[in-house]
Amino acid sequence: MRAIGVDVGGHKIAAALVGDGRILRRIEEPTAPPLTPDAVAPQIGRMAASLGAGEGIPVGVGFPGAFDAERERAHVVPNLSGWVGAPIRRILSDAVGSPVEVENDANCYALGEGWAGAARGLNDYVVLTLGSGVGGGVVLGGRLLRGSRGMAGEPGHIVVGTNEPCGCGGMGHVEAIAGANAIEREAALCGFPPDVKILWRDRSNPLVSPIWDRAFEALGKAVATVVCLFDPEAVIIGGGMSRGEGFVDALRESAMRFLSGPYRDVLDLRTSALGNDAALIGAASLTRGTDIPAPTGAPGRGR
Ligand SMILES: [Zn+2]
Repeated sequence: MRAIGVDVGGHKIAAALVGDGRILRRIEEPTAPPLTPDAVAPQIGRMAASLGAGEGIPVGVGFPGAFDAERERAHVVPNLSGWVGAPIRRILSDAVGSPVEVENDANCYALGEGWAGAARGLNDYVVLTLGSGVGGGVVLGGRLLRGSRGMAGEPGHIVVGTNEPCGCGGMGHVEAIAGANAIEREAALCGFPPDVKILWRDRSNPLVSPIWDRAFEALGKAVATVVCLFDPEAVIIGGGMSRGEGFVDALRESAMRFLSGPYRDVLDLRTSALGNDAALIGAASLTRGTDIPAPTGAPGRGR
């Protein structure tokens, strides 16, 4: 199977020709200012065309937003302008010249890991992406969990605190405590460089370690929550922070504190295998019509 995946962000757009879960060709451009549909849709169309969209290769797009259940319009689009309420799927299909599939970018990340990454061959898993915010997706029975209005599977907004303001308008959310932005903000208040990589390197500094203790408590609670809600085969941890040496081990230790016995015995916490390419590969997988294509060389999924 060949398909084109596009991963749209507020700073850059990546697009790739994907074959059987592997990237065959990849291109990247800064997102066209002023980040509106008029600017960005033609850019996506042009990038997709250069990878063969006009030659019948289908296109899937991972988009930074929360969508309606039909993936036609977005309720929220952080980091871009003028997209809320716009008929995103139609606009992108017009720009590409053929029908495109659209999905939230973190959900694409989860699908990519299932097709060709750390969740390959699994039917039930949760992905948490730890970047400037906290995102993710939930796959149950081989299908992306979308919920009644399309808004399910947002582990970054699980409540683990009390009154910490989250960018989404809620309070006490994982992202508001353990997203890189939140950690860096906290560090800056304490006079440390607001750089999550440096903070991780200096994590044994007694003035820095409380910042991480707090973040790991929030993340551990979030992992424990998704595990007892969904009983997944594995929880995949992705995003920039997850690649810090020893990070996933520290998170496992925290999650264990909050889990009850039966879950503790089977907790399978894994690091993302595809990293930055997961969302691109997952976007390409949308064009299959099933949520997760069977992994190459493995038996098909029971659905
Ligand atoms: Zn939130």
